[in-house]
Amino acid sequence: MINNETYQYELVKKLSFLRYGGTEGEAKAAQILMDEIASFGGKGSIEEFQIPAYDLHKCSMKVTAPYTEEIECVPYGLSGQLPEGGVELDLKYIELATDIDFMGIGDLSGTAVLINTLDWDMYKKLYEHHAAAFIVIAQDKWWNTPEDTDLVPRNLRDEYMEIGKIPGFQIRSITALNMVKNGASKVHLELRETETTHTSRNVVAVIPGTEYPDESVVLTAHFDSVLVGTGSWDNATGSALLMYLYQYFVKNPAKRTMRFVWCGSEEQGLYGSIAYIDQHPDIIDEIKMDFNFDMNGTVLGRNSISVTGGEDLKNYVYQMAAEVGYDANIRVGVSSSDSAPFARKGIPSIGIGRGHMQSCIIHTRNDLIYPLGAEAMHRNGEFAKLCVSRFTNSVVLPIKRELPDNIKKDVDKYFWVDKLSQLKKPEEK
Ligand SMILES: [Zn+2]
Repeated sequence: MINNETYQYELVKKLSFLRYGGTEGEAKAAQILMDEIASFGGKGSIEEFQIPAYDLHKCSMKVTAPYTEEIECVPYGLSGQLPEGGVELDLKYIELATDIDFMGIGDLSGTAVLINTLDWDMYKKLYEHHAAAFIVIAQDKWWNTPEDTDLVPRNLRDEYMEIGKIPGFQIRSITALNMVKNGASKVHLELRETETTHTSRNVVAVIPGTEYPDESVVLTAHFDSVLVGTGSWDNATGSALLMYLYQYFVKNPAKRTMRFVWCGSEEQGLYGSIAYIDQHPDIIDEIKMDFNFDMNGTVLGRNSISVTGGEDLKNYVYQMAAEVGYDANIRVGVSSSDSAPFARKGIPSIGIGRGHMQSCIIHTRNDLIYPLGAEAMHRNGEFAKLCVSRFTNSVVLPIKRELPDNIKKDVDKYFWVDKLSQLKKPEEK
């Protein structure tokens, strides 16, 4: 028997360590989840998949004119390489790389461009102008120091690689500020990496339905973290909430089959949920709804419900919340989480979460357990249990497995369908 009030909090504590996708940490977390499943008399399985990764050999940056200074930097992984020994390049700050920023800028093959943030259209422009390298200003504040913040490497998204590779770097905002203030005009850059793949994994457990076993719901929460912090809020909390549901439903099976998936490598590009869909093509049509849990249990803040579906789903969720006096902000659209790949298959989703942007900051070393609370987690968990139970035990499904056209458009936009189609040759379109 578990203590309902504290179970999720205790599991979040156990999972609060670095769990980056494709590493030992992620494997260790998967084993903790497997052990929990077994402790409830259930049977879990670990389903492995490969993710793109790289081994870094060298990443360095130095201002060479009109002054010299070594610069702290991290790479965009998988963004390509610069020649061994590095290259000296002109440095140009082109802010957002809009058309106006690009006025009068021709070939960039001897230039490293400094930009405020990276987006796809901009990257495409840089590629078309043959930029030799790009340098992105990190999202920290100029007064942050290396003692209180991390400069975290990230991978170049797959969609950018469809365009082509430009070796990329990230620097602190204070560094960028000083470089521009001091008129840095030349940099020496080196980036050497070997591309490889790492093994990541999902933890999967199924509770067969008692009356309609051929109809199912999928319940998802990613259990990996980014490269820093303990990923307590994002997303040890969602993983714990999902286990709280598992232990309840394994004793109280629903009419419909429940497929629990603790997803790996969400942070690197939703790889776990995408792999799950790829590895189970035969059951996708049976899945009528996804319940996704990505961050909950903050002491301060407010509850949120993310609905990927039509007005009927929004009203359905609102009515359940109203019935039990659960106050939540309901948002309709695509969430940047494991529900999105299911939405691409036409499956609606309900995401239940809770957050407070001032006390909890994801993807940093400050995503810690301190601002989280057992009571808040329990309230989120109980409401999730109610929604899941109502849906999976309904006599007739109250919501159809379909998405309205406006949401389908949002899903396409989220996965950059239009953008990627720009890259196709006319005959492929
Ligand atoms: Zn997350």
